[in-house]
Amino acid sequence: LAYGHNTGMIKENEKDSSCPKVNLLEYDYPGLEKFVKELGEPPFRAMQVWQWIWQRMARDFEQMSNISKVCRAELAERAVIVWPEIERIQKSSDGTTKFLLRLADGEHVETVIIPSEGRDGKTRISQCLSCQVGCAMGCAFCATGQMGLIRNMTMGEILGQVLVARDYLDDRRLDWPILRNLVFMGMGEPLANLDNVLPALQVLNHDKGLNFSPRRITVSTCGLKNGLERLGESGLAFLAVSLHAPDQDLRSEIMPIAAKWPLDKMLDALASYPLKTRERITFEYLLLGGINDSPRHAKKLAALMGKVKGKLNLIVYNSSPGSVFNAPSEEAVLAFEKILWNHNITAIRRKSKGADIAAACGQLRAKFSRQQ
Ligand code: SF4
Repeated sequence: LAYGHNTGMIKENEKDSSCPKVNLLEYDYPGLEKFVKELGEPPFRAMQVWQWIWQRMARDFEQMSNISKVCRAELAERAVIVWPEIERIQKSSDGTTKFLLRLADGEHVETVIIPSEGRDGKTRISQCLSCQVGCAMGCAFCATGQMGLIRNMTMGEILGQVLVARDYLDDRRLDWPILRNLVFMGMGEPLANLDNVLPALQVLNHDKGLNFSPRRITVSTCGLKNGLERLGESGLAFLAVSLHAPDQDLRSEIMPIAAKWPLDKMLDALASYPLKTRERITFEYLLLGGINDSPRHAKKLAALMGKVKGKLNLIVYNSSPGSVFNAPSEEAVLAFEKILWNHNITAIRRKSKGADIAAACGQLRAKFSRQQ
């Protein structure tokens, strides 16, 4: 199959190029309704197909048993349901599982599922989603940032990651899904691909589809000015912002593109970001050994956090073979936390998951590319 970038159109072969097939993952609900109407089918057919795609995870029209044979044949003639293919799976001793996915044009992206135990003792899974192949932001500590931007992922490709994970987990119960939370924290900068990320959030939110409420989705940005307002107005996800440095100079060094929007201006804009009741912005701070983990940095960060309303997550960097940066020592992390607490800043240390499988974004894809 040949694939047209960002169109969702798939041509079965060269000689049949006059009749491209559409990947139905690329349609939001109104789009699917229009498509089904063009086939001469009644409106309720769109809902049946929608539920087969998103709730029952059908990949073959023949599975759609409540749809007539004639309609199934017509759908198969005009459309396909194509998910990203699993190229590799790496499983960590802590249960974190990383997938290298091959998209229809041969590009690769990563997605990670991370288990945790709820207060009720039941396992919940969070999934880290990619939204671009590569990334233009060039963050110094990030393997994806080092490869540059190759292309945006389409809406269907973004959503396909969720179907792959649910299928892998055999997560078929809609009333109590195992896959509980989604975070856009994989490859790419979501605000740089909002034209695909926003429709994907709408599809995720559809109550007859995957039914992820906005409270179960977090979009993480390195702090891009463009798109922040659109995301806030949509109300379709929580916001996380990667700080990673407590001052403009250090931020410019390790996050060169993001830092073009000065830190103080970014924080001013975030002060008026629309939040729901009890919602707070999450700030992420990645502790890099010897770079941003000193008591001086902790004091500056405490002063910064005193000015904004938000939660602070501390993430301890996972060093892997070939990394330029080092993990911070446990003593440095403890001292850093203590300074924050002494300034009444609640910082939650996010446990490093999947350290043995290079779970940080872009690491598996980079390794795969080196082996090709
Ligand atoms: Fe892009 Fe995120 Fe990596 Fe920065 S950390 S380069 S924004 S993928």
